[in-house]
Amino acid sequence: MATAVSAPATSKPRSSKTESYFDNKRRDDIRQANILAARAVADAVRTSLGPKGMDKMIASANGEVIITNDGATILNKMEVLQPAAKMLVDLSRSQDAAAGDGTTTVVVLAGSLLRRSLSLLSAGIHPTVVSDSLHKLSLRAVDVLQSMAIPLELSDRDSLVKSAATSLNSKVVSQYSSLLAPLAVDAVLSVVDPDHPDLVDLRDIKIVKKLGGTVDDTELVRGLVFDKKVSHAAGGPTRVENAKISVIQFQISPPKTDIEQSIVVSDYTQMDRILREERNFILGMVKKIKATGCNVLLIQKSILRDAVTDLSLHYLAKAKILVVKDVERDEIEFITKTLKCLPIANIEHFREEKLGFADLVEEVSIGDGSKIVKITGIKDMGRTTSVLVRGSNQLVIDEAERSLHDALCVVRCLVNKRFLIAGGGAPEIEMSRQLASWAKELKGMEGYCAKEFAEALEVIPYTLAENAGLNPISIVTELRNRHAQGETNAGINVRKGQITNILEENVVQPLLVSTSAIALSAECVRMILKIDDIVTVR
Ligand code: ADP
Ligand code: MG
Repeated sequence: MATAVSAPATSKPRSSKTESYFDNKRRDDIRQANILAARAVADAVRTSLGPKGMDKMIASANGEVIITNDGATILNKMEVLQPAAKMLVDLSRSQDAAAGDGTTTVVVLAGSLLRRSLSLLSAGIHPTVVSDSLHKLSLRAVDVLQSMAIPLELSDRDSLVKSAATSLNSKVVSQYSSLLAPLAVDAVLSVVDPDHPDLVDLRDIKIVKKLGGTVDDTELVRGLVFDKKVSHAAGGPTRVENAKISVIQFQISPPKTDIEQSIVVSDYTQMDRILREERNFILGMVKKIKATGCNVLLIQKSILRDAVTDLSLHYLAKAKILVVKDVERDEIEFITKTLKCLPIANIEHFREEKLGFADLVEEVSIGDGSKIVKITGIKDMGRTTSVLVRGSNQLVIDEAERSLHDALCVVRCLVNKRFLIAGGGAPEIEMSRQLASWAKELKGMEGYCAKEFAEALEVIPYTLAENAGLNPISIVTELRNRHAQGETNAGINVRKGQITNILEENVVQPLLVSTSAIALSAECVRMILKIDDIVTVR
């Protein structure tokens, strides 16, 4: 190479052949650099795969610390600069959007496919051939997965719980999976609309985090939960039965002028008049509200002026109206959907038909002096659910929320596409085996590439075994053997440290998670392979 570099300086006129050699060299270098950078990212999350995977502690510059096992979260928080490596971060994000789980798997798979690609490229195979054979292989792999899949009925609650538990098993909060898995299933099933049975919008499940207690105290609330106290002046109600609830977006306080100005008050009678006007104004509003029978007010947070003043709180308390203030703007939609009521933007529009009804609204104290507001027994409740997540510290509570999100996604996947598949490396080994024999039918280079890629899929069982402290080579060899003898559901039992029928261990996962992991990782690797130049623009 050194001679090739110094050559142009000595002899000016070059044949086009040599120039193309130069060009290709640069392209190969860029491709190689991209692959190496992307692989480094994949290697970083590899140890987090599986139930015995390690967790990462992420410390950011502002002193914030996160402990997590979730691939998407780890990658999102990592500051990756190399553009190809960033593609792996996006890959994990797309898996999170498509399936919600399998975010580590997809990156580890991509890393392994990249490693094989590099060796194929250095063997002199053209990137297009490598990329095309990877495409064919990924289509074929999805077929293999589909042939292994087990159909599922939504009434089969047991299987749903098992798959949610599999996803929770690899998390920091795995010891609570017996509580969180059924909770996730119930939450998702309660928001499924019979008219659109395969559409689940996870925004209909509201997760409210409240510090204190342990994850064991996490509960599903059929109704609404607010992480705040009731606002009341002395004597205001904190518990209302047969509640008539309104969601208001205006303020119960004296109005402000549109322009900045000041009023000079020079004597007491004027002062008196202003105060009297203010009292009458607020009293008028409260009377209007009371006249509709409303006894609970949820007030949207206001940035213009105070939503309620001491005076209005006093009158509201006298009228026995319970007040929750500072409700966030983006919660309004969820609240009105749950209560089947309409938000009221102006006191003039305050009418009874816009109210929602519930059996009970109450302020509940939960240990350590903090309080929440719960609305339960909602009449004609919309298809929504709230989950109150508890935890003894912020790290646990945040990770519990992320893990619960994965479990909810798993159940959502199963509602969308009702097929299950065994876990514990079984599908990957089976794919690898069947694809390797399929590769033999292909001719020439393509067959060679396909065989390499088929072997690359073994990275998942290999890593699962490695992370569990088992001998990966002997485990994967035995696993391959068992599959060759027709045991398609043999997988790595990390608890016993052996190969067993993984279905008996209840390790199942949605088909969608595995198929989208294969399809997305193949797509990402093909994209990286096809890049031959990086152009920086300012
Ligand atoms: P991801 O972020 O990709 O979901 P996980 O850390 O959740 O990564 O690991 C998922 C992998 O662990 C899957 O391949 C799954 O089959 C496997 N797995 C989960 N639970 C078990 C178990 N109890 N025994 C064996 N393998 C398991
Ligand atoms: Mg998982």
